[in-house]
Parts: sequence; C-alpha cells; structure tokens
Amino acid sequence: MQTLDVALAERSYPIHIGPDLLSTSLIRERIRGNQVMVVTNETIAPRYLERVTASLGDLQCDTVILPDGEQYKTLATLERIFDALMEKRHSRTTTLVALGGGVVGDMVGFAAACFQRGVDFIQVPTTLLAQVDSSVGGKTAVNHPRGKNMIGAFHQPRSVIIDIRVLDTLPEREFAAGMAEVIKYGLIRDPRFFDWLEQHRSDLQRRDDAALTEAILRSCRNKAEVVAADETEQGNRALLNLGHTFGHAMETFTGYRQWLHGEAVAAGMVMAARMSRELGWLSNDDVARVADSLSPWGLPVTAPEGMTTADFSDLMALDKKVRNGRLRLVLLKRIGEALVTGEYDPNALTRTLEAFCD
Ligand code: NAD
Ligand code: MG
Repeated sequence: MQTLDVALAERSYPIHIGPDLLSTSLIRERIRGNQVMVVTNETIAPRYLERVTASLGDLQCDTVILPDGEQYKTLATLERIFDALMEKRHSRTTTLVALGGGVVGDMVGFAAACFQRGVDFIQVPTTLLAQVDSSVGGKTAVNHPRGKNMIGAFHQPRSVIIDIRVLDTLPEREFAAGMAEVIKYGLIRDPRFFDWLEQHRSDLQRRDDAALTEAILRSCRNKAEVVAADETEQGNRALLNLGHTFGHAMETFTGYRQWLHGEAVAAGMVMAARMSRELGWLSNDDVARVADSLSPWGLPVTAPEGMTTADFSDLMALDKKVRNGRLRLVLLKRIGEALVTGEYDPNALTRTLEAFCD
C-alpha cells in the first residue's frame, strides 16, 4: 500500500492506494463518531457494499443505495441521503462514506457539506476517474437542469481509500476515460511521469498491480499539489482543465451521450497540443507523442463525426470571447508544462479548429 498526504493545514488528509483495501480497517480508523452512512449505487452495491460495511465493526452503520447515472446527480437524489440520515437519527458526529464513481463521490461530498452544516466524509472511489481526479481536491456538487455541477461546495474528505482491485469490474471504456486524466497530469506538469506512462503502457493495459498503484499515486500527487497551492481555484488549479474547453464543446455537440468525459478530454488535449504547435511551442513530434499516448487506449484523437468549425465557435462562444483575446485556454509550452493564457494570435485558434474539423 502507498500513502500520500494532501497538505491543507487543518483539513489535511491521507490517500491510501493499493490492492484489497476495502476489507481493511482503513475506513474505520478515520471515523471519529459511532455512526456511519455508506452511500453507493445499485451497480456497485452488489459487488462491494458488504465488504465495506463488514469492515466497520460495531459502529451504527446504515446504507443508501442510489440509482446509477449522471442524470441522478440532482438535488432530488440528495434528499434520499438526507431522509435516511434523519430517519436513522444521525448526529453531527456521523461520517458519510462515498462508495462509487465520481457521481456518487460528488453527491455524497455535497451531502456531507450540507448535513448539519457539515459532517465528515470518506471517499472510496471505484472508477479510475474518481480515483485519480474527482475524489481528490474537495470539489463537491450536484447538477441543475441548466448546468452541470452548478450547486455545490468545497468540502475536503477525512481520507481517500483507493482499492485498485475494484477496477477489475470496471468496463474497459470507463478505464480508458480515466487514463485520459492520468495522461493529462503528465502533460501539464510532470514530464517524467509522461515518459513513465509511455514506458509502462503495456503493464497498465494488463492492469498490473504495481504499475496501477504507481500511476494512481503519481496522478493523485500531482492533483494534490495543484490543489494544495490553489484550493479554491483562484489561479493555477485551472491547469487541470487541459483539453477541457475544447472537450466541453465536443461533449455538448455529442449531447453528453456519445462520448464519455475522458474521451472528450483526450480529443481536447490533442487540439490543445496542435494549437500549441501553431504558436511555435510544440514540434510535430511532440504533437504525435501526445496523440500516440492516447489512441492506444481507444481514446478519440479527432473531432466527433460531423462537427464543424462553426459548431466549435458556437459552443465555445468564440465570436464573443476571442475577438478581444479573452477566451483563456490551457496550452502546452512543452510536454510536461502547461500554461493558461488568453494572449494568443486568434488565427492560431482558427487554424487549429479548421485542421481538426477537416
Ligand atoms: P460514474 O460515477 O458515473 O461511474 C461510471 C460508471 O461506472 C457508472 O455506471 C458506475 O456505476 C460504474 N462503476 C463505478 N465503479 C465501478 C466498478 N468498480 N465496477 C463496475 N462498474 C463501476 O462516472 P465517473 O467517471 O466515475 O465520474 C464522473 C462524475 O465525476 C461526473 O459527474 C463529474 O462531474 C464528476 N467529476 C468531479 C470532479 C471533482 O473534482 N469533484 C472531477 C472530475 C469529475
Ligand atoms: Mg475532467
């Protein structure tokens, strides 16, 4: 097992990573009161819920099983968590445990931020994306019909328990989507990690324990360092959005159904790399390296079928923003160093979009 500490003064917490952690006493050890509410969804419950509840010993342990899907990441679903907490008489000293992917993690984190003005919670992420991204950093939220993650809070967990064994049941496509965010950390701030990922791709593809633990550890360390320096996103935390502005346009174009988030981010990172080449920062070889790090995972590196430059302009509100050089983009100075800037030649963006949509 590997352990990493997220340094946030009095809100610091450990992240534990390794195989078979669900059945250990790691969750139990971080619980301060004598009540715990484990929240999961109907896909994960039959596989992993009992292992978690069995590890909690003699605490008062209650459970909530939510429906599975981003469409349930709503205030209405949150009510079910609050109802269970009230019904089972949970007090201010209760601990919520989020057992699931990013959807469960975001909802349970927000429920913990709100219940009695804030109670403890522990993240037990079960997707690769949740393990390397959403469970670290303290952003919690639910969606509003008019916008994703519009209602939320910053609320740090008491700990994050990453059992890599749960990835055994994760569908291949979800795993690859998580890899896009892993590769992102190499691209934005860790060139040695990017090299390492290239060298260990086959180990990761057969989900070797040691390679997986290392990849998740280095991802979490990168995210934790960025978050520790900028907890509430006033500055450099934005670097974590490499590929996301282009990606969001592609997610919106495909109606959030055709592509997973990580897939859109993959194609978006290739666009950011190409634009960085237009600006003279990356070479052709660098751009090829970026694409070659993603495509072996089955991640898309070209625009969605039928998407045009005009679609990008509309969805990114380009005509409004770029004219005065205002659309800030995360770009690459080189592989392993990103920057956020609105100061670029707008023609470089136009050329990038035109070449990407051809
Ligand atoms: P998800 O939670 O929907 O999980 C994907 C699917 O995999 C679901 O059907 C889930 O039930 C299933 N699943 C989960 N673990 C499994 C396992 N071990 N075996 C088999 N199936 C399993 O999606 P996600 O990609 O984990 O998270 C996406 C969410 O995370 C979005 O709502 C996004 O907004 C949020 N997010 C938040 C942050 C943050 O900083 N808070 C960062 C990134 C993403
Ligand atoms: Mg993302």
